Amino acid sequence: MRRKLAAGNWKMNGLVDDLSEIKALTEAHPDPDVDMLICAPATLIAQMAWARGTHALQIGGQTCHAERSGAHTGDISAPMLRDAGASHVLVGHSERRTDHGETDADVAGQAAAAHAAGLVAVICIGETLDQRESGHALTVITDQLRGSLPPGATAANTVIAYEPVWAIGTGKVPTTEQIGEVHGTLRATLRDLMKQAEGVRLLYGGSVKGSNAGEIFAVADVDGALVGGASLKAADFSPIVSALE
Ligand code: PEP
Repeated sequence: MRRKLAAGNWKMNGLVDDLSEIKALTEAHPDPDVDMLICAPATLIAQMAWARGTHALQIGGQTCHAERSGAHTGDISAPMLRDAGASHVLVGHSERRTDHGETDADVAGQAAAAHAAGLVAVICIGETLDQRESGHALTVITDQLRGSLPPGATAANTVIAYEPVWAIGTGKVPTTEQIGEVHGTLRATLRDLMKQAEGVRLLYGGSVKGSNAGEIFAVADVDGALVGGASLKAADFSPIVSALE
């Protein structure tokens, strides 16, 4: 049985004052029967870890370098994230792939670095609108999964997030049939790639809100969500957590 995961991605948002949202979120779900994760900007990870107190809220980074340390000005390594209080890290988010030209091979290297540091890698994949409309969505996401999953990935150290690029921050959401088709394909691909395929959690991400979470979570092989905009305020994220519980 895979434990559900409600994951938030704060992206480049959040100042110390916004940690009040963490207090509100943990108070709204003092003992959730799903995992809750917030992927914070690096500047807030340590303070977020303090703000959660004894709550089981998990904290993640939003990217990491493939190397442990070195001459990479402005980058952050997986051991640094771990040291600051993170247990997870997003790798391969479409905004990283687009803004920083990250390839599947880069993402696999980052995920391997995350694993070596004891972090869970949340590997993000998803097709563009052109790829969807030209009928290539399944090929694209399968290739991305094969290219981004490092050797050594297990059900415990890896989560996969399917995030169609055209659904991120747009208010557009694939049909539940489309989500089910992709997640079923991802599960089948994982069976080819690793032994623990049944245990790997598959998240859907892209314009998830309280109003659409229930129908998305009812789709087979959807084990939770990766949420951007609606994770910034506890009042928006809380109904998504509740829909998963
Ligand atoms: C995301 O950034 O991972 C995301 C899914 O964003 P949003 O929920 O705002 O579409």
